[in-house]
Amino acid sequence: MTTRIKVGIRVRPFLDSEKEKGYLNSRVQIDEQTKEIMIAEDGRRERKTFKFDFVFTPNNNQLQVYEQANIDYLLNKVVEGYHCTIFAYGQTGSGKTHTMEGYEYELAPPKESSKEGGNSAPKPRPKQHQNPERFGIIPRAVSALFEKLKAKEGGEFNVTCSFLQIYNEKIYDLLNPNSIKQNSADGTPVLSQGLRLRWNQRDQFQVENLFVFDCKSAEEVMNFFHYGIRNRVTASHKLNMASSRSHTILTLKVESIDLSTQSSSFSKLELVDLAGSERIGQTGTEGKLAKESIDINKSLFILRQVITTLSDIHRTSKQQKDQYQHIPYRESKLTSLLKQSIGGNSYCLMLACINPNDSFIDENISTLNYASKAT
Ligand code: ADP
Ligand code: MG
Repeated sequence: MTTRIKVGIRVRPFLDSEKEKGYLNSRVQIDEQTKEIMIAEDGRRERKTFKFDFVFTPNNNQLQVYEQANIDYLLNKVVEGYHCTIFAYGQTGSGKTHTMEGYEYELAPPKESSKEGGNSAPKPRPKQHQNPERFGIIPRAVSALFEKLKAKEGGEFNVTCSFLQIYNEKIYDLLNPNSIKQNSADGTPVLSQGLRLRWNQRDQFQVENLFVFDCKSAEEVMNFFHYGIRNRVTASHKLNMASSRSHTILTLKVESIDLSTQSSSFSKLELVDLAGSERIGQTGTEGKLAKESIDINKSLFILRQVITTLSDIHRTSKQQKDQYQHIPYRESKLTSLLKQSIGGNSYCLMLACINPNDSFIDENISTLNYASKAT
């Protein structure tokens, strides 16, 4: 059992809205040669330096990230039968969703007489015309995976997709329209109980009643993905929950059938947009916010423990591996769900995203600490 984990850092550019406000300085510096990132803390002369497998500057575009982080290599591994997981980590606004999806959204005008309930603020929806240059890892990887599978000789393949989110340690199916229900008493929308996680014989967790769809092409997968994204936006508006507070996982499961032996093997590609890593309101958080904050911090903490242990195991000699009996997968929904894909004979990539604004120095240092533990 070995897990190969690579970690990359991406610093996003300043947005036009930030430039207009004059936020132009960044105490984050990157050395592309040494793959180091330096950050100057408040009131300190020395800079903290961190080193990663990949570093991306604000000038690197989506294609460069895709190519240099070697997503193609991971997809080859999926075709060969290995599980692969790609995570985006970072505080809200650091560029996780841009890195994973890259779609442009616009605000839909609120309907005049909304029967839907909830708040009637403008909702973001994907723009009709997207610029493919802005596409992130998900659309690029999905189409490349199908190309690779189609080009493979001597075999057939089946691909299925599912798409879920984890919010407050509950699992919601983004492809099931019944994830949000009407409250029977007053008709207001409520989230359903969440799906149950079952432990099965083959040492895997499975989500009960999760919708899983056969997909014949990358377009089909992307249609499901967009449907799921729309559901996520609707859910967050109806229920007044910030979508930055949930993890989303798009799972592609590939069954490869070897025609000469009639044997089949399974592999999974998991594409994960993690919840924002910021600690919300250290003081005065009560009720809902406090619960969200505790759950997110816990699941990201467990994820780090799992990944750190796995990468330690990868580095240690065979004899020493026995000492790592306990990897705490079961302590969060996220790691339980990903157990098979990150814990088996698998490949992981974590892309940690950084906001260049100086006001986020502390959050950025925390992201860099988190990510450097994973290598
Ligand atoms: P997160 O998902 O971490 O909350 P987003 O991906 O939504 O962050 O990014 C926040 C904003 O920054 C969005 O408007 C996004 O379009 C923009 N952005 C992020 N990364 C980049 C980038 N590399 N180039 C251009 N714009 C970016
Ligand atoms: Mg996001």
